[in-house]
Amino acid sequence: MPTKRRILVIEDEKDLILGLTDAFTFEGFEVSSADTGEKGIELAEQINPDLVVLDLMLPGKNGFQVCQELRAKDQMAPILILSARSQENDIIRGLEAGADDYVTKPFSFGELLARVRTIFRRVDAAKQRGSTVTVGEAQVDLDAHNALVHGKQVDLGFYATAILQLLDERRGEPVSRDEILDVVWGMDVNPTNRTVDNFIMKLRRKLEEDPAQPRHILTVYGQGYKLV
Ligand code: CA
Repeated sequence: MPTKRRILVIEDEKDLILGLTDAFTFEGFEVSSADTGEKGIELAEQINPDLVVLDLMLPGKNGFQVCQELRAKDQMAPILILSARSQENDIIRGLEAGADDYVTKPFSFGELLARVRTIFRRVDAAKQRGSTVTVGEAQVDLDAHNALVHGKQVDLGFYATAILQLLDERRGEPVSRDEILDVVWGMDVNPTNRTVDNFIMKLRRKLEEDPAQPRHILTVYGQGYKLV
């Protein structure tokens, strides 16, 4: 039997913790939970989770802070933010803080599970490939989901890395948002074109010298994005 994937749920709603623990356990995952960000960070260090499901509105440290601290402590497990806050600002802020994906409450467990499976599929695919993509001065490690920019390591998260990989496979050609959604997220989940734009913004902020005037991750009006 392969080792079970370990999911850490950081969430302060008791009912939701119980529900998620049951449902993920039933699906074959090993689940640990913490009801504050502080406990979650401590637990992450002990158990090295394969995925963190993180609530934003927590007592004490909020989800954004938890996200940043996990990344600062070299916890590179994908982080999926779970939150009632559906405003775009929060989504962008969460992604900036190092989160990989975002599901807004109320959600169905089926949707959450589909996102989690997509994350693990990409992690596995990246492990098998393990290669590097160059974006200007930056070296992106597709396996580790991070980049070396002027000697400094920056975390990209796996969705942003996956988008970059697709653009690299078609370097110089425009790739449409629909195709990015299909290839990166698959058919079983339903993010919007706006989601792609948010990840492109994140990539530009991290990899471009001047994110307002990108020289490598370009918008092709009416068509999509291309990497040059
Ligand atoms: Ca909460």
